[in-house]
Amino acid sequence: MAKKWVYLSSTAEKDLTKTLGHKPALDEAKVILGGKGAGLATMTGAGLPVPPAFTITTEACIKYMNSGEFPEGMWDQTLEALGEIEKQTGKNFGDPKNPLLVSVRSGARVSMPGMMDTVLNLGLNDETRVALAKLSGDEWFSYDAYRRFITMFSDIVMDYSREHFEEKLQELKDKEGVKLDPEVSLEGMKGLVAEYKRMYKDHFGTGFPTDPLEQLRLSIKAVFNSWSGARAIAYREHEGIPHDWGTAVNVQTMVFGNLGEKSGTGVAFTRDPATGETELYGEYLENAQGEDVVAGIRTPMKIAQLNEVMPDIYKQFSAVAKQLEDHYRDMQDMEFTVEQGKLWMLQTRTGKRTAAAAVKIAVDLAQEGTISKEEAVLRVRPHEVDQLLHPFFDPQEKQKAAERGDLIAEALNASPGAATGGVVFDAEEARKLGGEGKAVILVRPETAPDDVPGMLASKGVLTQHGGMTSHAAVVARGSNLPGVVGCESIRVDLQRKQFTVQATGRAVKEGDIISIDGGAGEVFWGAIPTVEVDYEKQTDLVELLGWADEFRTLGVRTNADLPHDARRAREFGAEGIGLCRTEHMFFDPRARDAVVRMILAETDGERQAALTEMLPIQEKDFEGVFEAMDGLPVIMRLIDPPMHEFLPPREELIEEVAKLRCTDPKSKELSEKEKMLQVVNSLWEVNPMMGLRGCRAGIMYKGLTEMQTRAYFQAACRCSKRGIKVKAEVMIPLVCHVNELRLEREKLEAVAKQVMKEEGVEVEHMFGTMIEVPRAALTATEIAKHAQFFSFGTNDLTQMTFGFSRDDAEGKFLLTYIEGVDTGETDQEGNPIRFQILAQNPFQTLDQEGVGRLVRMCTQEGRAANPDLEVGICGEHGGDPASIKFCHDVGLNYVSCSPYRVPVARIAAAQAKLLESK
Ligand code: ADP
Ligand code: MG
Ligand code: MG
Repeated sequence: MAKKWVYLSSTAEKDLTKTLGHKPALDEAKVILGGKGAGLATMTGAGLPVPPAFTITTEACIKYMNSGEFPEGMWDQTLEALGEIEKQTGKNFGDPKNPLLVSVRSGARVSMPGMMDTVLNLGLNDETRVALAKLSGDEWFSYDAYRRFITMFSDIVMDYSREHFEEKLQELKDKEGVKLDPEVSLEGMKGLVAEYKRMYKDHFGTGFPTDPLEQLRLSIKAVFNSWSGARAIAYREHEGIPHDWGTAVNVQTMVFGNLGEKSGTGVAFTRDPATGETELYGEYLENAQGEDVVAGIRTPMKIAQLNEVMPDIYKQFSAVAKQLEDHYRDMQDMEFTVEQGKLWMLQTRTGKRTAAAAVKIAVDLAQEGTISKEEAVLRVRPHEVDQLLHPFFDPQEKQKAAERGDLIAEALNASPGAATGGVVFDAEEARKLGGEGKAVILVRPETAPDDVPGMLASKGVLTQHGGMTSHAAVVARGSNLPGVVGCESIRVDLQRKQFTVQATGRAVKEGDIISIDGGAGEVFWGAIPTVEVDYEKQTDLVELLGWADEFRTLGVRTNADLPHDARRAREFGAEGIGLCRTEHMFFDPRARDAVVRMILAETDGERQAALTEMLPIQEKDFEGVFEAMDGLPVIMRLIDPPMHEFLPPREELIEEVAKLRCTDPKSKELSEKEKMLQVVNSLWEVNPMMGLRGCRAGIMYKGLTEMQTRAYFQAACRCSKRGIKVKAEVMIPLVCHVNELRLEREKLEAVAKQVMKEEGVEVEHMFGTMIEVPRAALTATEIAKHAQFFSFGTNDLTQMTFGFSRDDAEGKFLLTYIEGVDTGETDQEGNPIRFQILAQNPFQTLDQEGVGRLVRMCTQEGRAANPDLEVGICGEHGGDPASIKFCHDVGLNYVSCSPYRVPVARIAAAQAKLLESK
């Protein structure tokens, strides 16, 4: 039998079972029919009221893209399916008495908001228009449908911009002195249709296609082609969606929401997509067709109001919503139309939501028993957890701003979050500036698909028009971008690049700083300081992370240097400190003089005296950290950076010395500066990152690491005597040869023993090393014999494995490596072809093939040599979800990351475990 390219919604489930050899899972159906087609099939199969439809597969699209022609058999199957729909509806395509009209709708595997457009009312021509007028008893409606069809077909299928048509409509409304489309006279509409047909003929040289089959054929091609349109490609690149998925085409019997007061069209979510609250949420527009709601031309009513206007429909729709949510076991985003008092379902899909809603809905669904806790944990993306811990505007500062009169507008709270930035009115400009790392807020009358890249590069978006389901609102929520829409109290003037606040006449120009609160729907003049989140109050998140902890096997520690960071991290669920950098204490102003004297010391005595002064400062901070982590392990890393970092910069000194030699040659200041310069010169290194630092400094500077170890163990012993449970772990950094480790460890262990003897108390402790030099990883077997733990310092390990100095690389070539090097060639559309050297920044996501290979090998060989070896990671990668998954798979004991990323790591670690056992 010929390949099946076309599936009727009414039999799709059965037919797919035949094609696949088993009952299709939801994802499998989407692969073939696209999301929209799969939804239509499911709803039809469940007996819901869905206008009869069929779907042409995504595979047909790919075949078409490759050959430029419909695959063999596809058109015949399309005609056959059309015949079935004719049977189901009792109408015939192109029939001058009882014509079938259809919509042609695109639908890829995942929903790509606004990426591909729908053509409505297809099948209309002069003859079928007459029939439509007769059947509906409404001539005006028939002309309205016809002019919409000509507009959409010209714009979407033929690429003759709809603006030309809308301009004519506006002229007509002005001439007739009316504001809304439905107020246009019948004569006006008639004239408009004639005008549109004339325009079409003038533009293309041939008349508007009257043969419905020709209209259909061209529309299907246009949908296929739209998959390769620039804006669809841009969206896919941003979202990481493969280009070879293709889009399905859905052909569906038209139902009309524009047939008077008892008709209308709406969109609704089964739960509030902004907060996750369990209640129907959406909008309904009376006497309207298709995208009138989304386009934000008229202001729709809240879905709850439908209960007052048409209680029966509301009740029926609520039941359908519940049924769909139960079926998909997730929040649904639905589109529907009411035609003369009858409900028709047109679409359902899993709804996009804010991070806060994602967490609440997952937790609620689990508590309602609809999904398991495991599923709940898997439903929330780690970056959404991150989002929830982001700061918000300080309420007091907001209050003050309002009192100052800086609250310049209030509108719809489309997508929560706090954003401050310079105003930009052009999406392309926003994309450019955002790409340069500038904070911008995109302000538009409304947004369209072409604006998406610019929106995504902005900190927030503000639109003058549109409702909660407008394009801007949907994209903002889906991308966790703060958004305020429908701000009718401002007037955006694109020409003059400014918006004015109508009430006050205040003008905000391009580049002016504004702040928007997407959760409150507020727009402020100027910048407003933000505050941190109260984690404990986020009860849903706390609950979800508690579940994550039940599943994960990978430990989560934190990188914290100071007691308050340690406390915060513990609140976020950290199970210990994986990295406490001691150099922060050296930068402490209280220790500053002593540190400098220690470095400048000419005799052992001088040095020892300086070190003795530094000791209590270090000790005090360590005590604070032990207190905060009571009962949990604390890894103290000995001094790591090169000593010159604690001294004044060399260039500065040279300049000062030169100046003083002229102005005050005999001064004491000069002789001090000269001495300092001498030392700085002697410490100067060509490449300090690879110079005297880490354990090398510990070995060369007598007494330095001894002092640190003494401070650490004194703190440990004294805390222990106060009843605090301490687990002290000393980490020796930047080891490349086992002998470095042996030497340092022996020396420091003696100090530890001595301190514990003096204090008269034993504390639990370990000595280990950081693996950050490739040679250390390569000789893990030797090193593991002398270490109780390894911790991968993947920042340095990445630098040294790649041979990149991070600071130089990111500024000079690394970003080009990631974006792709210009090859000098162009593709068919004239866009430059770029060759991507690296898929991602190895300093953000662990390079699994290279650096990861060292990590894996080192872990295995280290554990083989020392079965008790504890292994973790403390580089920045410890907070990156993809790297965390890798760490789980390699079998590390824990990851350690900055305090704010601890919750992200908890969820990522749980997901790694859950996906592994699947
Ligand atoms: P999108 O992917 O942009 O949501 P759709 O294919 O869902 O595009 O079409 C947009 C809107 O057009 C729908 O929400 C619906 O209001 C209208 N529409 C599509 N098909 C039909 C139809 N057969 N009858 C009536 N309205 C339709
Ligand atoms: Mg659309
Ligand atoms: Mg839709």
